[in-house]
Amino acid sequence: MKFYSLQTVMILSLAAAVFAVGCGQSNHVPESKADKKATLIAEKKGDHEGWWCSEHGLPEGECSQCDAKVAAEFKAKGDWCAEHERAKSQCFKCDPKLKDKYAAIYRAKEGKEPPETEDDSPSKK
Ligand SMILES: [Zn+2]
Ligand SMILES: [Zn+2]
Repeated sequence: MKFYSLQTVMILSLAAAVFAVGCGQSNHVPESKADKKATLIAEKKGDHEGWWCSEHGLPEGECSQCDAKVAAEFKAKGDWCAEHERAKSQCFKCDPKLKDKYAAIYRAKEGKEPPETEDDSPSKK
């Protein structure tokens, strides 16, 4: 009787340990993935460096995609690409050469290549 109950306790505790480990693993995988994503977002935001819009590849204060006021100014001038919803003079999709023009501003100020823009990332993957 004594032996039987000890064995039962051992089996139960072993099962509990396996269950706990299995449970812990299934809980931890999505958690660490979420952490990684949060870190990536934080890093991406850090890329802004205050003045540069790394998402769109031009100075933040001139970004017609981020600032509605800037967008309104371009629209008022008739400088607008309705297809891509940004200033025509900033539409890298219509004129890829414009990207170089803005990249040159970044290079002059930071002494390095600008970070990849939102548009670059999906096409390179
Ligand atoms: Zn922007
Ligand atoms: Zn366009």
